[in-house]
Amino acid sequence: MSLPSGSTIGIIGGGQLGRMLAMAAARLGYRIVVLEPQPDCPAAQVANRQIVAAYDDAAALGELAAASAVVTYEFENVPVSAAAALAATVPVYPPARALEVAQDRLAEKKFLNGIGIPTADFSPVDNDDELTAALKKFNGSGILKTRRMGYDGKGQRVFRNMEAGGFAGTCEAMGNVPLILESFVAFEREISVIAARGIDGSLAAYDPAWNVHRNGILHSSTLPAGVKSDTAAAAQTAAAEILAALDYVGVIGVEFFVLADGSLLANEIAPRVHNSGHWTEAACTISQFEQHIRAVAGLPLGNPARQFDCVMENLIGDDIRRVPELLAEPDLMLHLYGKAEARPGRKMGHFTRVSRRS
Ligand code: AMP
Repeated sequence: MSLPSGSTIGIIGGGQLGRMLAMAAARLGYRIVVLEPQPDCPAAQVANRQIVAAYDDAAALGELAAASAVVTYEFENVPVSAAAALAATVPVYPPARALEVAQDRLAEKKFLNGIGIPTADFSPVDNDDELTAALKKFNGSGILKTRRMGYDGKGQRVFRNMEAGGFAGTCEAMGNVPLILESFVAFEREISVIAARGIDGSLAAYDPAWNVHRNGILHSSTLPAGVKSDTAAAAQTAAAEILAALDYVGVIGVEFFVLADGSLLANEIAPRVHNSGHWTEAACTISQFEQHIRAVAGLPLGNPARQFDCVMENLIGDDIRRVPELLAEPDLMLHLYGKAEARPGRKMGHFTRVSRRS
């Protein structure tokens, strides 16, 4: 059953993704309540109401459930217990299982491999001896990552062509938390697919984007991605398989490494709208944000077809100074997040340049 216009959608998390979801929801006639501890957050500036409280505050979650006809979220580290508690009284999309899988890199890789989607080789690491053994297995090269709470390249350490051994203290320096060592992938490029699944099981996948990272943060997404059509189709098929396996509702972002022969290794899944899908608001009739709201509201999914070629770039920290020159360009859509202070590494906005489809 679809959510009638005028209903309220709850969003956990008040960052720019929540803001863009709220804007899309408003255009479909919905009201938005945001749960976020930071007052006057980017999402609350465009929402009907903010509950200012921690994401796991039981009273606040009760308030959110009471105010909302459906609850969704804009980041993958929503406590699974909070999502499960909410789900007892109000529909929560995407399902808590998607959070469980996405929050732990080990669970994520096991899930992907379990449904036949290849990833980099990996080994769980809980101490320096296990690190030494795992590095030996991967010929001295690999990326050590925290299993949980890593984002934008944080909580990672790269080992390249090093003799295994002599890594005493590494695990302590990483915070003595559960780790995973991944074999180093010599990828040709990185792409991602944004896809959606409706309550009725319908699917919609956008074209893959070619993503370039700088300092571990997404710098640009380019469409078309410059990969073979077989590779693009395989990425969309893998995203569809992930959605079905999780009995998912909403938009998901799936990141892949493309190898020299065009084959794919999945890197990460994000159970939410994704930075590498921001281009959709400028180059498609139905953006990833509207698509997500349509999915969680039980509306028919929109056409994910791309109308333009485009390049999306993030505005990080002082990049915000480029705004006047960017606004002077004729075919550029600018999106700012309403953040007062431009700190280094902080995502302040993004823009998408569009051009006729090649
Ligand atoms: P992640 O936080 O897992 O998305 O990693 C951040 C970035 O580090 C990725 O976008 C890649 O550019 C790089 N990276 C991550 N894992 C690997 C890997 N196993 N091999 C090579 N590069 C990687």
